[in-house]
Amino acid sequence: MTEADARADLLIAGGGIGGLAAALALTRQGVPVHLLEQAQAFTEVGAGIQLGPNVVRVLQGWGLQPALQAVAAWPQQLQARSALTGEVLACLPLGAEIAQRYGAPYATVHRADLHSLLLSAVKSQGLASLQLQSVVQSFEQEPMGVRVSCVDARSAAQSLSAQALIGADGLWSRVRSLLLKDAPPRATGHLAYRVLVPQKILPHALRCQDVRVWMGERMHGVQYPVCGGEWLNLVVLTETQAPAHAQGWDLPRSPDEVALDLRSAMRGTCSPLQDLVRYMEGWRVWPLCERGIVQGAHQMAQGRVALLGDAAHPMLPYLAQGAGMAIEDAQVLASAWSERSWTVPQRLQHYAQQRWQRNARVQQRAQRNGHIFHETGLMRIGRDLALRTMGARLMDIPWLYGAQLSAGKP
Ligand SMILES: Cc1cc2nc3c(=O)[nH]c(=O)nc-3n(C[C@H](O)[C@H](O)[C@H](O)COP(=O)(O)OP(=O)(O)OC[C@H]3O[C@@H](n4cnc5c(N)ncnc54)[C@H](O)[C@@H]3O)c2cc1C
Repeated sequence: MTEADARADLLIAGGGIGGLAAALALTRQGVPVHLLEQAQAFTEVGAGIQLGPNVVRVLQGWGLQPALQAVAAWPQQLQARSALTGEVLACLPLGAEIAQRYGAPYATVHRADLHSLLLSAVKSQGLASLQLQSVVQSFEQEPMGVRVSCVDARSAAQSLSAQALIGADGLWSRVRSLLLKDAPPRATGHLAYRVLVPQKILPHALRCQDVRVWMGERMHGVQYPVCGGEWLNLVVLTETQAPAHAQGWDLPRSPDEVALDLRSAMRGTCSPLQDLVRYMEGWRVWPLCERGIVQGAHQMAQGRVALLGDAAHPMLPYLAQGAGMAIEDAQVLASAWSERSWTVPQRLQHYAQQRWQRNARVQQRAQRNGHIFHETGLMRIGRDLALRTMGARLMDIPWLYGAQLSAGKP
C-alpha cells in the first residue's frame, strides 16, 4: 500500500476545546476527521475563559467572529490591582487599542459558549463524525496508518484505523502516556476556586466589565465578564500545604469549607475584594497540576501520533493561554496537513517543530507569572513598584499577542 492508498482521515481523541478546534481547522481544509470523546455529551464546565488577540485572530480566521460576537464580552482594560490595598497598580488598554495593535480584540467568554460555538462550526462543516462515550485505550503505529482501540459505554471494544491519531485528551492524556511513557502530572499545591454569577445580583459597585487581576501574597484573584457582560467570572488562586491530586474539577469541598479556605487565604486583603468574594455562591475547586516544560518536537509528535492542547503542554492558568495554545496548535496542524506532497509523519513532525518552542515559552511565562502574582514581603513591594512605574509596558506581551502562525516549509 502506498501513502496515497491509506485512509485520508484523522482520529482525534478528546472533544474538549482543543479536540474540537482541531476538528474544525482540519475539516475547513477538507480533511475528514473522526473524533472520539469519552463523555456522554459534549460539555464544558461552568467557568470563564480569556482569549488574547492571538487567539481571537485564529477564531476570526475560521469565520467565527459573528458567533463569538453573540456570546463574548469585550473588556476595555486589564487592570493589575493590589489585593491588599485595592490600588490600581497598572492598566493595559484592551478594546480598540489592542485590536489595532494586534489585529483582533481581547475577549472573555463562558467556556460552554466557546465549546458550543466550536461544536456547531464542526457540525456545519459536515466532514467530521463525532462519537461520544468512547474511551481511547491504546494505539498501534503501523507502516501506513495507526490503529486505535477504544471502548464504549457498554464496555464493547472497538478498533478504528486512520492515517494519524491526534491526542487532544487533556491533562491526564492516555495517548500521551502511551506515546511518551512519562510520569503523570504533578500536583502543584495551588487551588483554583471558581465561581460565576449574574452581574445583576451584585451591588453596582461590585459589577465589572474589565479584566481585573488582584495580586496579593501567596494568592491572587482574577475577575472578568462573560456572556455578553451579563455574568461575572471570578477565580481565586491559593497555595495549600497538601497538594491535591484529584482529576478534573470539583475537589469535594462543602460551601462552609470553601468559605473557611477563602477567609484564611484572603487574610489581609482589601474590602472590595473580600466583599466580592462574600457575594459569590456556588464555588468549585480545581487543584492545579502541571508537567515539565515541553523540551522538544519529539514531545509533540512521533510518527503518526501527535499531541495537542493540554495533552501536549498543560500549563498553569497564570497567563490565561492554555486553551489559546490548543487553538493555535489546531491552526498550525491544519496548515501542515494541507501540504499534500508531504507524508503524514512529515506533516506531524512539521507541526511539532512549529509549535513546541512557542508552547514551551508560554508554559514558562505562565509559571513565572505564578511566582510574581504570589510574591511576599520585599519582593511583593518590588513587584508593585515595578507595575506602578512601568505600567502597560510590563503587561503587554507582543511576542505572544502579535505572533503570526504559519506552517512554513519542512
Ligand atoms: C483555573 C483555570 C483557568 C483557565 N483559564 C484559561 C483562560 O483564561 N484562557 C485559556 O486559554 N486557558 C485557560 N485555562 C486552560 C484551559 O482550560 C485548558 O488549557 C484547555 O481547556 C485545554 O483544552 P484541551 O481540549 O486540550 O483539554 P480538555 O479540556 O481537558 O479536553 C480533553 C477532552 O478529552 C476527553 N478525554 C480524555 N481522555 C479521553 C480518552 N481516553 N478517550 C476519549 N476522550 C478522552 C475529555 O473528556 C475532554 O473532553 C485555564 C485553566 C484553569 C485550570
